[in-house]
Amino acid sequence: MKSGFVRSALPSSVRYFEAIGNPLRGCGAWRNALCPFHGDTRPSLRVRVETGAFRCMVCGIHGGDVLAFHMRRTGKRFADAARDLGAWA
Ligand SMILES: [Zn+2]
Repeated sequence: MKSGFVRSALPSSVRYFEAIGNPLRGCGAWRNALCPFHGDTRPSLRVRVETGAFRCMVCGIHGGDVLAFHMRRTGKRFADAARDLGAWA
């Protein structure tokens, strides 16, 4: 059996950020969270709920989904990060 990335198994952005103790705040299509990539004291990270795309309004870090965020946060490579998130079969 071929193994690989299963995008549909990625957690939602809401679930992912809750799981790492940094829940999304606010409501609407874009929400806020603390940015772990600079000394954030107010939620500067904007996260698009539907896709998990993110952008920090202070340090400028950005990416397209929770996997990209997880890779940045942990320094893990694609496959290891996908495994962490249950999206590697
Ligand atoms: Zn930042």
